[in-house]
Amino acid sequence: MTNIFQTPKKFPLTKAALHEAIKKFPTPFHIYDEKNIRENFRKLREAFSWAPDFREHFAVKATPNPYIVEILARDGAGTDCSSIAELFISEAAGVVGEKIMLTSNDTPAEEFRKALALGAIINLDDITHINYLEKNARLPEIISFRYNPADIMNDGNDIIGRPAEAKYGLTREQIFSAYKICLDKGIKRFGLHTMIASNERKASTFIYTARIMFELAAKIKDRLGIKFEFVNLGGGLGIPYSPDELPVDLKMIGDGIKELFYEILVPSGLGDVRLAMESGRAMTGPAGWLVSTVLHKKNTYKNYIGLDACMSDLMRPALYNAYHHITVLGKEDAPCDEIYDVTGSLCENNDKFAIDRHLPKIYVGDVLIIHDTGAHGHAMGFNYNGKLRSAELLIRENGNVELIRRAETLDDYFATLNFPNARLKPKK
Ligand SMILES: *Cc1c(COP(=O)(O)O)cnc(C)c1O
Repeated sequence: MTNIFQTPKKFPLTKAALHEAIKKFPTPFHIYDEKNIRENFRKLREAFSWAPDFREHFAVKATPNPYIVEILARDGAGTDCSSIAELFISEAAGVVGEKIMLTSNDTPAEEFRKALALGAIINLDDITHINYLEKNARLPEIISFRYNPADIMNDGNDIIGRPAEAKYGLTREQIFSAYKICLDKGIKRFGLHTMIASNERKASTFIYTARIMFELAAKIKDRLGIKFEFVNLGGGLGIPYSPDELPVDLKMIGDGIKELFYEILVPSGLGDVRLAMESGRAMTGPAGWLVSTVLHKKNTYKNYIGLDACMSDLMRPALYNAYHHITVLGKEDAPCDEIYDVTGSLCENNDKFAIDRHLPKIYVGDVLIIHDTGAHGHAMGFNYNGKLRSAELLIRENGNVELIRRAETLDDYFATLNFPNARLKPKK
């Protein structure tokens, strides 16, 4: 049988180097590649190199580790934060001031106060938040609103999203009123934001989003005289999780948006607007791998491979039925003529990294590499069933492998309990 999953997917370490790393840092762990992250950011910057100004606000929630944020910040990225913890991570990584965009929703007052203290750009999710912000903190110098365009159609036929069903953003009517209220309150600097797509690989979606936003910016300027400093098109750039999917054509997106920039913004006197994005997945997703060892093989009505990782390390397959490519270390070129369910140890039948997956013959002790876990991977982890979250490693550009977050311990898990029993303190 031929290898039906002839994967173009790569892993940056040799077999020997990975075994060396595993000796120091036991599996399971997520491992990230600095070079790959920088390369992804470079490609995004290049697509918008024509723009008078472009800024990527890396969505911290994708990979909330200050070491990762620092790598992107060194190359000029800002951050997109949506919680107080993410604001602290951004600050720790040296990203402060207007390089931070606070794009949260249902926002607590203390988060607004922390964002203001850092000088972040506040991006409000609702018209009522103007008063809430003024009452519980203060109004900032620059403000932005998140627009929800309801149903959006691609070229008038193909529906590409139903933002009307989403909890985010302001309606079209509200957004005009919101800027008017802020003008009346004396705010003088403005931005405009939306976030429509998620894991979208079609260039046309992003170009169409830009059209909606550019036309809206021009209309608001027309009506209220506001000269926007930036238009933020949000995140949502997709990645090819499966080997037979194609990557996003960033150049096509950049070129398409450039055309609209000159067609809509420049004639409206908005030719110096900064374009911004909040990409998370496309920056770090393909630059991370979950490395796990096979603990058990079980043959019942199906053939199961039981890993030392579980869905507390990677929720996406269970949560979204998402595909993550899997390779077996040292068997990259072996024929995939076995069919397995690859499982974790949670008492949940959806704790499966793969179902009916064609893989090479696997033995207990084999090391499995789950690809594209760099974004929304470790970050989504949880502690259900008392499962502990894994470590995070980073491959530096000089090839060094560093521990950038240790694995959780039982002590961490019990730390929040005040149960007066020394037996909950595991002995070292
Ligand atoms: C999640 C999120 C992002 C990042 O999305 P990706 O799919 O990782 O690019 C950006 N902006 C906001 C407001 C988000 O909630």
